[in-house]
Amino acid sequence: MKKDIKEVIVTEKQIKDLCVKLGKQITLDYKDKENPILLGLLKGCIPFMSDLMKYIDLPVEVEFMDVKSYHGGISSSGDIKIRMDINTSVYNRDIIICEDIVDTGKTLDTVVRLLRHRGAKSVEVVTLLDKPEGRLIPFTPKYIGITIPKVFVVGYGLDYNEFYRNLPYVGILKESVYDK
Ligand code: 5GP
Repeated sequence: MKKDIKEVIVTEKQIKDLCVKLGKQITLDYKDKENPILLGLLKGCIPFMSDLMKYIDLPVEVEFMDVKSYHGGISSSGDIKIRMDINTSVYNRDIIICEDIVDTGKTLDTVVRLLRHRGAKSVEVVTLLDKPEGRLIPFTPKYIGITIPKVFVVGYGLDYNEFYRNLPYVGILKESVYDK
């Protein structure tokens, strides 16, 4: 797996430091809120959410949704489907959506609108990676780990055809991988 990586763009050490920083900020901002929901978007959120939540020093409820926006390729299809919905009511709750990366902004725009429509008290987004150059609609996550250029990345939750999610860092694949 690691032999397929051309370049590491966010190291394990950087990721750890970003999780500590974001966790502390969220702890401060939500200290007076009542049991916020940390809502992970599967499957990409898994490593980031499990690391980040260790540094949120508050009682949070942990929930997941599976929202699919890419269909195995390397560019956004713009087609969004809710494959697994959240398991609890969001009515009058403070929601922190936990995402691996924001690209076009379409996925989060849709999910945020849906949660607001269902009566959430507040909806904010924490993302490890942000690709602002990829935006097709305006969307600004409240908490951003690190901004990256408009490149396709894998690792630390992010896949190419469902693989590479278990790499401990974020990197760019060698071109030869796409030719297989
Ligand atoms: P958006 O709706 O903002 O375009 O896309 C968000 C989703 O697209 C992410 O949760 C992720 O699944 C996928 N995505 C966007 N950029 C990348 C990327 O560079 N690499 C991978 N593996 N997935 C991406």
